Amino acid sequence: MHGFSYHEQLLLLFSTPFYVMIIGAELLLSNFHFHKKTYTVKDTFTNIYLTLANGSVDVAFKLSYLWVLIQVANHSVVQPISNPVVYWLLLLVLEDFVYYWLHRLDHTTRFLWAVHVTHHSSQKFNFSVGFRSSVFEPLYRFIFFIPLAWIGFQPVDILFMYSATQIWGTLVHTELVGKLGWLEEIFVTPSHHRVHHSSNPKYLDKNMGMFLIIWDKLFGTFQRELPENEYAPIQYGLTKNLENPNPFTLIFHEWIQVYKDVTQKGISTKQRLGYLFGPPGYSHDGSRKTSRQMEKEEEQARLSSK
Ligand SMILES: [Zn+2]
Ligand SMILES: [Zn+2]
Repeated sequence: MHGFSYHEQLLLLFSTPFYVMIIGAELLLSNFHFHKKTYTVKDTFTNIYLTLANGSVDVAFKLSYLWVLIQVANHSVVQPISNPVVYWLLLLVLEDFVYYWLHRLDHTTRFLWAVHVTHHSSQKFNFSVGFRSSVFEPLYRFIFFIPLAWIGFQPVDILFMYSATQIWGTLVHTELVGKLGWLEEIFVTPSHHRVHHSSNPKYLDKNMGMFLIIWDKLFGTFQRELPENEYAPIQYGLTKNLENPNPFTLIFHEWIQVYKDVTQKGISTKQRLGYLFGPPGYSHDGSRKTSRQMEKEEEQARLSSK
C-alpha cells in the first residue's frame, strides 16, 4: 500500500505549473495594471513556508489516516454505488458537506481555531494566500471523512475529491474577480471568500464552504459582500494581527495564548474548558469579545447612529 493514489499524483503534476502561472499573472496584473500592492515578498514567502509545512505533516501522517479510513471502509455494510456518475457526484456533494462542518468547527472551537488561524493571518488577499495552509489540519481532517468511508466511498477517492475541490478553494483567493452572476447562488466565489477572510465584524465566521455556498445558506453562516456605500471596505486578516511573527509563532501563537489562558491562576475548571473548547474570543471576565459579540455591537452602534 502506498500513500498516494495515481490520480492524486496526476492532479499535483498538472496543478503546480498552473498555480505558478496564475500567481505570476495576478502579481503582474495587480502591480502594473491596477497599481495595487497585492503581493509582498515576505507575505508570499510565508504562504509558501506554510504550505510546505502543511504538506510535510500531511505526507508524514497520510499512511496512518488512510489506514484508518480503509479499516472503516472494510467494515462498511452499505452496498457501494455502481453507477460512476452518481458515485462521483454524490461524493463531491457529501465531501463538500463534511468539509463545511470541519471548517465551521475550525472557526467556532478555540483549539481548532488555534490550528486554522494561520490561514487567516495574512493581511493580503491573493492566490498565494490559498496556499497559506492550516499546518496541523491533516491530523484531524480525516475524522470528518470517516462517515464517507463507512457509507461505501473508497478512501483514495475521498482524498482525491478533497484535493480536487481544494483546487477550487485555492482559486477563490483573489481580488481580481468581481461578482459572478448566477454562480454566486450555488458556488463559493472569490466574492464570498473575500468576506471569509475579512476581519470586519459582520463578515467574521461567514462563508465556510469550499465548493458549494449552499451549506452556508442552509445553516445560517452566509454573508454576501456588500458594496462600499452599504458597509465598510474589507480589512483582511485577524481582528488582532500578529506584530512580529517568526516561523515558530506564526504556527503556534494561538496555542501559546491558549496555554496561558488555560493555566492562569484563580479560574474555575469550567472557565478553563471555555478557553479550550469555547468560541475564540471567550473570556471568563468579559475582557475579550467573540465574533458574534463584535457583530452585535457593530449593529447596535449602526442603529443608534441613525
Ligand atoms: Zn477559515
Ligand atoms: Zn481562504
